[in-house]
Amino acid sequence: MMTLTEKILARAAGKAQVKAGDNVWVKADTLMTHDVCGPGTIGVFKREFGEHARVWDKERIVIIPDHYIFTADSRSNRNVDILRDFVREQGLKYFYDVIDDPEGKWVFNPAQGLLKKQYGSQYAGVCHTALAQRGHTRPGEVLFGTDSHTCMAGAFNQFATGIGNTDAGFVMGTGKLLIKVPETMHFRLEGSLQPGVMAKDVILHIIGEIGFDGATYRAMQFDGEGARSLSVDDRMTVANMAIEAGGKNGIFEFDEKTEAYVRHRTETNGTRSEYEPVERDASENFFSEHVIDLDKLEPTVACHPDPGNRRLARELSDLGLDRAYIGSCTGGKTSDFIAFAEVIRGKSVVIDTFGVPATPEIVDELKSTMWDGTSVWQIMTDAGVQMTENAGCSACLGGPVDTFGRMNKPLKCISATNRNFPGRMGHKESQVFLASPATVAASALTGKVTDPRDL
Ligand code: SF4
Repeated sequence: MMTLTEKILARAAGKAQVKAGDNVWVKADTLMTHDVCGPGTIGVFKREFGEHARVWDKERIVIIPDHYIFTADSRSNRNVDILRDFVREQGLKYFYDVIDDPEGKWVFNPAQGLLKKQYGSQYAGVCHTALAQRGHTRPGEVLFGTDSHTCMAGAFNQFATGIGNTDAGFVMGTGKLLIKVPETMHFRLEGSLQPGVMAKDVILHIIGEIGFDGATYRAMQFDGEGARSLSVDDRMTVANMAIEAGGKNGIFEFDEKTEAYVRHRTETNGTRSEYEPVERDASENFFSEHVIDLDKLEPTVACHPDPGNRRLARELSDLGLDRAYIGSCTGGKTSDFIAFAEVIRGKSVVIDTFGVPATPEIVDELKSTMWDGTSVWQIMTDAGVQMTENAGCSACLGGPVDTFGRMNKPLKCISATNRNFPGRMGHKESQVFLASPATVAASALTGKVTDPRDL
């Protein structure tokens, strides 16, 4: 009688049954933090538990610097050093440092430019993508992260949600958190995506249906034959944006695709490989039911100024653009760049176009994936896309003024990222239009919002 989210929370709370609205103490399986929130979380931990306190579990805290990394801003560089000092003090096992020297200091060198990589061998890139790639996402588990898009790991049949620094400091000390069990909204996906339509269009369509606050403090459960037809990357895109409807978490069913991905990643990285997925009960208590026919979806855009401001790409063909951007946890995966490259191959972009892979692994994949003797990376740069090897959050959330791709003027940008509230990618008066990588690519070629099926 429980939903997927309720089953995970019941297990983590040591109870046979929970229902929406219950307040329960749940055990965390993993706590993730990054360079923006990590120093604050560490501060809360030390203040509440004492200067010499030890974390609850050295192997369950994962620290991934990724946000304000490739900038000359010294306070941002210093945040990475604070994380390193804490990792050494506590003996934490999982820290994906920007540099290789554990005694060193991180200093970005702007003289080397923004395109050539400046990180060491352990650097992992954007936290949510890196968590999955480095084998830290496991079905049936509870993941807390000090970042709102932590919900991306719901793609793996996991309860994953963003928390603030105060809660994270508490989890760091105790491994537990008081959670109100969310109501679950049920999204049954039917059919399959048509050419030119991507997972991003699915979630933009859904947010447009329910509004950017339509799932506030609710779980969004995605299942059905259409959900099973999506790749793991696609599921990550959908789950990532649950928070853009206000959702507490997004969650998918476990299947052979989840199993293969998690097995490969835990084996490759030597992380914990045991887990217990949750399956759907014959009867579940949903707050609401929604059926999404994937066959009927079209390339979709969320217009300035919020992710629920939905239009079809073909309705916006008069909208001129200044810039295009592909990157982030949502839109900077290898499959996203492949979809982009398929559209622009052999053509040239007509507006400034920036490409930021989410992780160093994706940089390597794009450079080693060859089409008729040319790498996908080369196809991107030949078309005029400015590609950086410095994988990370980059301009997805603006960042310091020297951030690659940041909008320092009031420009209009079409972007494969996940959030478009005013000022999100830099200048307060800039406008961001969220779209799939294929739609961003088509629009980069014309300078106007363009349905990729038209090219
Ligand atoms: S890529 Fe963007 S949305 Fe993702 S974690 Fe970084 S700043 Fe947040």
